[in-house]
Amino acid sequence: MPALFLIVIAWHSDVHAQPDTDKHHDCLNKPHQAQVFLSDNKKSAYHWLEKKQRNIYGEDAKPLTLEELISNLEKRPPRMDRGDVRGMLCETAGDIVLPTRYESIGPYLSLKRASDLIRAGLAKTGDVAPDVLLGTLPIKETNAETHKRGKEYVILTNHQILNTIYSLTLIANRTAFFIPAEETGAIAAISTNSDTVKSRLEKNPELLTSYHKSIVAFSNKTPHPILETTDILETFILSTQIDGMHRFIVGHEYAHILLDHVSRTKRNFDIPTAKGGSESISMLGYDWSQEIAADLTSLSLMQLSAMEDRDKNEELALLGHALFTYSAVLYLVLTDALSSEVNRCTIGKTGSYSNTPEAIRKSIVDDVIDQLSRGNSLKLSEQHATVLACRASSSHPPQWLRAEILIRTIDQAFEEGGVSEALEVKIARSIIINAYELERLRLEAVQEAVASP
Ligand SMILES: [Zn+2]
Repeated sequence: MPALFLIVIAWHSDVHAQPDTDKHHDCLNKPHQAQVFLSDNKKSAYHWLEKKQRNIYGEDAKPLTLEELISNLEKRPPRMDRGDVRGMLCETAGDIVLPTRYESIGPYLSLKRASDLIRAGLAKTGDVAPDVLLGTLPIKETNAETHKRGKEYVILTNHQILNTIYSLTLIANRTAFFIPAEETGAIAAISTNSDTVKSRLEKNPELLTSYHKSIVAFSNKTPHPILETTDILETFILSTQIDGMHRFIVGHEYAHILLDHVSRTKRNFDIPTAKGGSESISMLGYDWSQEIAADLTSLSLMQLSAMEDRDKNEELALLGHALFTYSAVLYLVLTDALSSEVNRCTIGKTGSYSNTPEAIRKSIVDDVIDQLSRGNSLKLSEQHATVLACRASSSHPPQWLRAEILIRTIDQAFEEGGVSEALEVKIARSIIINAYELERLRLEAVQEAVASP
């Protein structure tokens, strides 16, 4: 494997600091200036993007303005991780420059933050970050793609994915059963096995319902359940994971550009427009070896971007580091469930994690890792291709396969760091196992519902 694959998940590279909310409060009361849009520059790819967004979202579907976004945020209960968005808005208030008139500002700012942090991480290595623009579109086939326009790269992310992973992650976290220490109240142990998940879901049946609703909402544009964190620990866990996931998504696209995966043939995506036609947009096309390379490089970019954000709370430092690093895997596991629902393959759930027997999954992962270590370009055996069905011919490897490759790399790094048996690391890992179990139980429930109408 090329040198960029070698990731160092060194234990000293702690995660981000908690957002500092206090100093930003007054700016939210100030009226914001009339906005200037980057898309007004006709030479910018944002000009192109705005036209695509207008056609696809429709004239009437303008997203929230900055003022509306701030006012919405103010009406909701305070939350640690949202402090950051407020802070970011305030820091740039007055001269905030928005990309296009049709952009969803919330997701855009989250992606921009992730992108800025990755660029800062890259700068430390002396690498020059490429010119990257950010935007959202309702691409369904994958969660993010890169379009090249002249010298500019436009990282396009599915407009719903950030909301969806927020809910799915929060629900997966709630299936974990933490055992508090008697004296301190800190987490003393974690109970995780399929029985724990089942008993958690039996006690809180709305978890499975909300989880199913979130997945269906992503696929069918039905209303998304609104979920909020309830205490400081839950907020810390969730915001750390979500932060990691944002950086993993954006980092994966940066990796394609940095690894020069851009000279391959392009694929065209057809996205339906508001008026009933469709817009065809070319995206950079890759093979599976390049996708896996981009995942591993994205892990490195995540770590680089987190190096200076040392967690102020020493007690939570290892927990934060583990949650942040494993969030890349959790993201892929949760989106494996999404791919089953979005049904980009004609055979639906075939080839998903839940529907592929463990022994075959293991043999596929071993085979893929073996081929990659020899530097071969990936070729699935006939037997494996049959098991994965239409997923075998998808532009990206199945999400669970990507997750299995990443988790082996991360496990190894934590093992080498001598902390693989630490409770904090076990917590981050167990949430991943729970997420798989959650999906298995969801599919079981769906099947039962179909069987007994
Ligand atoms: Zn990719």
